Amino acid sequence: LTNRVGGGSGFVGRELTRLLTNKGHEVTVISRQPGPGKITWGELESSGLPACEGAVNLAGENLMNPFRWWNESYKKDLFSSRIDTTKTLARAIAASPSPPRSWVLVSGVACYKPSLTAQYTEDSEWTPFDLLSKLVKEWEASALLPEDVAKTTKQSVVRPGVVLGCDGGAMKQMLLPFWLGLGGTLGSGNQPFPWIHVSDLAGIIAHALEPPADTPSPSPQVFNGVAPALNTNYEFTKELGRVIRRPTIFPVPGFVVNTLLGAERGMVLTQGQKVVPERTQESGFQYKYPDLTSALKEIVGS
Ligand code: NDP
Repeated sequence: LTNRVGGGSGFVGRELTRLLTNKGHEVTVISRQPGPGKITWGELESSGLPACEGAVNLAGENLMNPFRWWNESYKKDLFSSRIDTTKTLARAIAASPSPPRSWVLVSGVACYKPSLTAQYTEDSEWTPFDLLSKLVKEWEASALLPEDVAKTTKQSVVRPGVVLGCDGGAMKQMLLPFWLGLGGTLGSGNQPFPWIHVSDLAGIIAHALEPPADTPSPSPQVFNGVAPALNTNYEFTKELGRVIRRPTIFPVPGFVVNTLLGAERGMVLTQGQKVVPERTQESGFQYKYPDLTSALKEIVGS
């Protein structure tokens, strides 16, 4: 099957491309840059969506870009890079003479309000309460297909927690301080730390990409893209230290994280949500890395 993947050149997209290619599928990346195996967003807008069985959007300005200050222009880019690309792809799907059988948007768990006690499944009600949850609301709304197209194209939304892998994302930024023995809990450490191994996230996206057997449900199916183990930041910190055999004795106070990153994004690290992948598991998805020890051993080992 042929798939078009917006942002497929990134951390998650490279893993998804590897997985789909290994399964014998073909992948074209939609990118800002032209290149072999790629089409640009401009080409997509002007020439329409080349025929395909599946479409995914993973494009977005990196939320943890260490080279960007937390200011209005960065916030604007976080929104437009996600919402404009998603709208462009959804419009191209709707305008296609033979739309793909499935369309997957990858958003995030920032829609769920951080809490030490609440547990969220895909069916939990939520309303935006801060900048990032507003972003998720607009982002997911911009993916919606018109009713007639939704009768044949299955719509899914995957909401990942912090994606762990050796090739990018949070681990790439955390491993060096942890190797140097400078790692520690962030904030109180009691906050939930929803996470997923990048290989499992790619698996969930591929699972959502499978063509529908019957008429798809009219509204998108949501899949929480998190491991079933519910861990705290303290548990994550201690396990990472144990796996790489380094002490983790330097807690980073919440106000330091907030000063460095800006309070609105520092919150992603100093607060968290207990997210349960209920539909993901009910749909029969099998995790390769359901617990922290197996996930971290694989990442550090590679
Ligand atoms: P990356 O940071 O690797 O970026 C993915 C791709 O987005 C890039 O390869 C790039 O493609 C494109 N992109 C970057 N900046 C812009 C921009 N300003 N405008 C348009 N396109 C842009 O993302 P990940 O692979 O880590 O994540 C994929 C998706 O999953 C993102 O939407 C992210 O928000 C979401 N997510 C990720 C988490 C994580 O821990 N990594 C956690 C939760 C959600 P190109 O250069 O080819 O145009």
